[in-house]
Amino acid sequence: MKEVVGKCAGCGEDVVCRDGFFEGEIERGASFCFTCGRQLRAEFTEEEMGSFIAGLNKNPEQHTGYFGTEAKEVIDTLKTDFSDLACKDSFAVLKENGKIIAALGADWDQDSATGELWGPYSLASGEQWQKDASRLWRILQHKINQNGTWHGFYNVQNQQAIQWISLLGGKLKSREVILQVLPEELKPSEKESVEEFTELYTEEFKSLHLKVFPDSYFSSGDILSRKNDRNRLFVIEKNQRLAGYVYVEANPSHNEGSIEYIAVNPEFRGMGMGEALLKRAAAFLFQDMNAKEISICVNAGNEAAIHLYKKVGFSEKHRLEFYNF
Ligand SMILES: [Zn+2]
Repeated sequence: MKEVVGKCAGCGEDVVCRDGFFEGEIERGASFCFTCGRQLRAEFTEEEMGSFIAGLNKNPEQHTGYFGTEAKEVIDTLKTDFSDLACKDSFAVLKENGKIIAALGADWDQDSATGELWGPYSLASGEQWQKDASRLWRILQHKINQNGTWHGFYNVQNQQAIQWISLLGGKLKSREVILQVLPEELKPSEKESVEEFTELYTEEFKSLHLKVFPDSYFSSGDILSRKNDRNRLFVIEKNQRLAGYVYVEANPSHNEGSIEYIAVNPEFRGMGMGEALLKRAAAFLFQDMNAKEISICVNAGNEAAIHLYKKVGFSEKHRLEFYNF
C-alpha cells in the first residue's frame, strides 16, 4: 500500500509511505526523498568545489560575476574569505558517481543577512539545468535556514541564471561593465604630476569622496584607515587644491589589484586629471605589486568613466546584470 505523506523539500516530488515504510527522511522538520536527502548530506572539499565552479565560470553562459575563473584563486577564497557559515553549509551540491555535477553557493553575511549567490552551476542544460537550479536552491535555503536578501550578479550571456533568478522574484538593479587591462596594454604616461596622499588634503579628500560616492562600501574614513603599503591613495594637486584622487588595493599573492575609487573635482574636469590618476594607479599595481591584470567594474550607464578607462588602455571584458530579491 502506498500513501503520499508530503512533498520533498528538495525536488518537490511526493514523498510516500509504502507498506508502512517511510520512503524518505526527515531533516530538521522537513521531509526529503532519498535522492535529495543524499544530496543534502553530500560532502565535498574546497578543492573539489573550487575547481568545479571555476571551470564553469569560464563559460560566459554560466558566468557569475563575484569571483574569477582560476581554480587556485577560487579555492583560496573558499578556504579563507568565504561566507560567515562553514563552507559545507554554504553550498548545495548535486553529485553523481562521486563527482560534483551541479552546485549553488552563498557567500552569507550574518550581520546584514545577505547572501551573494555563487551559481547555480550545472553540467546539464535547458530544462534539466532549471530543475537542478530549483533543487539546489531549496536545499541551500534549508541548509542556511534564515531569511535574508539574496544577490545575483550574472553575465548577460548567462540567460539561464537570469531566467531562474527572475522567476524567484529577483529584480534587475543595475547593469555593469567589467573592463580589464594587461601590463602591455597600458598607454604610457606623458606627464607625471600625481603624488602620494598627505594629511594636507584630508578635508578636501573627505568632502570630494562623500560628494562623488555618497553611499559606498568604503567611507573616506575607511579608506584612510585601510591605507598601507599595498592599499594606496594617490592624489593630483592643482593651484594648491585637491583636483582628484584614486584609491587602489593590491593583492600581491594573487598578482592582482583593483582600482576601488577614482574621482575628479568637477572644477578640474576635462583637463586629463582622471587619465593621469588612472595611469599612476595602474603603474603602481603592475610595477610595484606585480599585478598581471587589473579589472574594474563600472556602471554601464557611466559612459564618461568607460570612455576614460578605454583611453588609458582598458578593454571591455564582460557585461553583467545585478539582481536582488
Ligand atoms: Zn527530492
